[in-house]
Amino acid sequence: MSALLRPSPLLAKTQLYINGDAATQEIVTYVPQTTQAELREATRAAESAFKTWRKSSVLTRQRVMLDLQALIRQNMDRLAHSITLEQGKTFPDAKGDVLRGLQVVEAACGIPTSLLGEKLAVARDMDTYTIREPLGVTAGIAPFNFPAMIPLWMFPLSIACGNTMVLKPSERDPGATMILAKLAEEAGVPKGVLNVVQGGVDTVNYMCDEPAIKAISFVGSDHAGKYIYERGTKNGKRVQANLGAKNHGVIMPDANKNHTLNQLVGAAFGAAGQRCMALSTVVFVGESKEWLPELVERSRKLVVTSGFDKDADLGPMITPQALKRAEDLIQSGIDEGAEVILDGRGHKPKGFENGNFLAPTIISGVKTHMRCYQEEIFGPVLVCLFVDTLDEAIELINNNRYGNGTAIFTNSGSVARKFQEEIDVGQVGINVPIPVPLPMFSFTGSRGSIMGDLNFYGKSGVQFYTSIKTVTSLWRSEDATSTQAAVNMPTMR
Ligand code: NAD
Repeated sequence: MSALLRPSPLLAKTQLYINGDAATQEIVTYVPQTTQAELREATRAAESAFKTWRKSSVLTRQRVMLDLQALIRQNMDRLAHSITLEQGKTFPDAKGDVLRGLQVVEAACGIPTSLLGEKLAVARDMDTYTIREPLGVTAGIAPFNFPAMIPLWMFPLSIACGNTMVLKPSERDPGATMILAKLAEEAGVPKGVLNVVQGGVDTVNYMCDEPAIKAISFVGSDHAGKYIYERGTKNGKRVQANLGAKNHGVIMPDANKNHTLNQLVGAAFGAAGQRCMALSTVVFVGESKEWLPELVERSRKLVVTSGFDKDADLGPMITPQALKRAEDLIQSGIDEGAEVILDGRGHKPKGFENGNFLAPTIISGVKTHMRCYQEEIFGPVLVCLFVDTLDEAIELINNNRYGNGTAIFTNSGSVARKFQEEIDVGQVGINVPIPVPLPMFSFTGSRGSIMGDLNFYGKSGVQFYTSIKTVTSLWRSEDATSTQAAVNMPTMR
């Protein structure tokens, strides 16, 4: 059994999904649906590999992570190329995708320290200590929008903790995961420790039901995430699920205008708005709304074309369906009384007329009941709301069902502090538009943006992939000679 499940020739013919280049609609690869027999084979391989991998020394696993991080760095361009080809984001942005995942591997190199337990001499000759143990076979289910970063949130930490993994990349862009799995093999990850399977709902159902799989890491949409959380936990599995988002940027009138507008444009439209931490909603407080025309002008200048074009600021959206959904939501805003002040619909870059392109679009005068505010658009569309005070902005954001990320732009420390304290969102940026924490911390989306208690990566990630055993030991020389039985409930004195 190879570390990679290679699709059989038969499977290659029975493709479930035709994966097209989002800029041209040309087929770049066929993604097979892994069969039930192959899914069982992958899980049995992971179960069998776990027996030896769990006993590998933590220093061995650290060495593998050190080698993996070096290999990813060396293969950065190859990985980024696969991402731009399949996902469509610009080449520099694709490198960022790899880099943010690489940072998790770098953090996993510190696994000996992360797995340290606690110990206390609780009584005479008696010690209590904790041991962090791996869970067994774990599963990962990834979304399309970060084809390298999100699989790298999952498998390196899981296997560094001593688990094995069955990983399912998005059926829309599995190429980066396939390269990463090969690099993991080169770095010394033994066969069976990391297994890649393909497909859609059938594969997911298998993962939720298979008793040997002890934990599932999921990142993706609300619909799939809720389903996987419910089905997985019902079957007794530990599940961490990061879901959708609607991230608000609050603009105070005292903010640095140039910095704020540049950050806002980048965070709203970068990666064609297909980031879970994209700032897709802006709340102008008081007079800051006067900056709106300048925001429109800066957004209009962005170059929207193939991600391989050196001048591209943003590439296409992932599928024609995703484009249509975004366009429908723009239209719903108009129908409900909002105003489109920058309309990117119908954008056709020269040479890529068939691509899924939507240029930056700004909808102004949006009210909270409108569909374009209520739903995650997940495209290069910025919705704008106006309020008079910071309190109103905080209330508005706290009433939104999502709690992934938010940012405030201000020059006032006390305003920033009030915002940080009163806002009910898991990741807060202060003059930072996309505050995705580095991996010495954890990704801490909250409320409707997450299900499960343990976050991805950081200390919380290590907790997710391990369970704690607490040992109490007594080594007392006179016990060897005493004939008195101890019948009372043991108390520690
Ligand atoms: P998606 O839910 O469509 O797909 C994610 C995974 O779930 C894929 O592997 C897919 O095969 C599987 N899947 C899809 N539909 C399913 C179903 N009905 N039943 C079972 N499995 C199913 O998500 P996507 O479109 O690939 O990714 C975009 C979404 O992911 C956005 O909502 C975005 O906000 C979210 N996201 C969240 C985070 C975060 O950390 N909060 C990060 C990235 C993306």
